[in-house]
Amino acid sequence: MDTDVIVVGAGPTGLMLACELALAGVRTRVLERRTEPQRDSRALSLHPRSVELMDQRGLLDRFLPLGRTVPGWHFAGLRTQLDFSGLDSRHGYTLFLAQARTEAILEERAHELGVQIMRGLETLAVSQDDDGVEVEVRGPDDGTGTMRARYAVGCDGGRSVVRREAGIDFPGTDETLTGMLGDFAVVDPGALDKARAHGVIVAPLEGGRTRFVHLDPERMRVPAREPVTLEEFRASLTRVCGSDCGVAEPRWLSRFGNATRLAESYRSGRILLAGDAAHIHFPAAGQGLNTGLQDAMNLGWKLAAVVNGWAPRGLLDSYDEERRPVGQSVTENTEVQTLLAELTLVGQYQRPAAALRKLLDQLLGMAEVNRRLAEQVSALGTVYPPVTPGADPLVGRRMPDVGLTAAGSEATRVYELLHPGRFVLLGLAGEPVDAGWGSRVEAVTVDKYDERADLDGVTEVLVRPDGHIAWATRTTDGGARIDDRVRALTAWAGTAS
Ligand SMILES: Cc1cc2nc3c(=O)[nH]c(=O)nc-3n(C[C@H](O)[C@H](O)[C@H](O)COP(=O)(O)OP(=O)(O)OC[C@H]3O[C@@H](n4cnc5c(N)ncnc54)[C@H](O)[C@@H]3O)c2cc1C
Repeated sequence: MDTDVIVVGAGPTGLMLACELALAGVRTRVLERRTEPQRDSRALSLHPRSVELMDQRGLLDRFLPLGRTVPGWHFAGLRTQLDFSGLDSRHGYTLFLAQARTEAILEERAHELGVQIMRGLETLAVSQDDDGVEVEVRGPDDGTGTMRARYAVGCDGGRSVVRREAGIDFPGTDETLTGMLGDFAVVDPGALDKARAHGVIVAPLEGGRTRFVHLDPERMRVPAREPVTLEEFRASLTRVCGSDCGVAEPRWLSRFGNATRLAESYRSGRILLAGDAAHIHFPAAGQGLNTGLQDAMNLGWKLAAVVNGWAPRGLLDSYDEERRPVGQSVTENTEVQTLLAELTLVGQYQRPAAALRKLLDQLLGMAEVNRRLAEQVSALGTVYPPVTPGADPLVGRRMPDVGLTAAGSEATRVYELLHPGRFVLLGLAGEPVDAGWGSRVEAVTVDKYDERADLDGVTEVLVRPDGHIAWATRTTDGGARIDDRVRALTAWAGTAS
């Protein structure tokens, strides 16, 4: 077999996953049915945790110059914004960046890492046996063929063929409501504030285009599959905000719905799911692409560990255990937001819905409430349940990007140390740490580091390749610390090399 992993789908999730696998030396092939990259962008936001992930892989320089940062984001279109700027991150902002740009950067990186991206190949069927998977594809000339690999990952979006072929159920609710999206080359700039005041999302795009997104009570039951026309869009805007905003020369018109589903499992044997293939929901607060990138970051190193032969027992299953609850929570928060939007538009609920929005706005004005929701939407608050009872409270959290100086080295920071995608073991007690796990673990004896309350008294931390904390200890007993460290390393990074 010349391929270890076949990734189906070259959307943001598939490309991110392919980069993670290739970084770990896994022979990776991506199959994409489109012959050309996507030109139109559904998503426009990279929230703080996704920006951190790009920082952890040294990709920030490619992303930041292309986007625009905004210090917060909306929740359910409420007036009070979620404040990301006060969160505990160097990247307390949303990077406003078109999905097509994100995909182009990840594709460029995937090529650099040696990923084989095969466009114009549609996956028709996937099967598995004891040794691997077989993927049946159809090419642009309608010819079919099969490919083998050890594992397959479906990153093929909401209608995932891989999910269907793996027999993984996708329970949830069908679409009951749709919104409209339009990207226009020509608009009336004088009408935009009024449109915003009536709840229409108006966002500037590259090339002087402007995006409009809105819900129209008279059109919100039209099925997503029905195409949007310019006439419909103009009439709808006029109903919603009293003006058609001069929209003309549409570049893209689309209708999207609130079908909400979560895969019953993210894994069936040698077949795994990530991104929209595993969870779909209304695009409320811009979380779908972000969640997909974070799925990929969680799965990449674990699947690579299995392929490379050092994965401890249960490591690959922890992908479903850690990421499905996140998918569940995202689908739930989007359902809450969608319900609120819908109630605001339905005759008999309009008054109580307005009162509810007022109340929620007041609640969002409270720092603690705002912070909790901001942590959820930004994904900075994602904590994976610790495997060991009685673990340090840091375990499962994301490692903050602490600045440090290692013995005999230049000043650096944790996210720089994570660039190669390895475990990082930080000795914070000033005593030498030497992991003995070869290239899997970079052991760093820290001379000096930025002090933070949550690291007070911490003597060692083991950071996973995806930036979450696998293990931490506060013990000052050198012998006990070594025993504990060896147990933690064995549990996460397999037996010593
Ligand atoms: C209107 C709208 C606005 C949105 N805004 C945001 C936002 O601001 N922020 C955010 O985070 N998310 C947003 N989203 C959601 C986001 O676009 C998706 O969550 C994201 O695209 C999912 O990425 P993915 O790679 O998992 O799947 P996709 O982007 O759907 O990619 C799947 C890929 O697989 C390919 N494929 C499918 N089937 C096959 C097959 N059989 N064989 C080979 N290839 C196949 C497809 O061609 C595609 O390239 C928005 C969605 C909508 C509808």
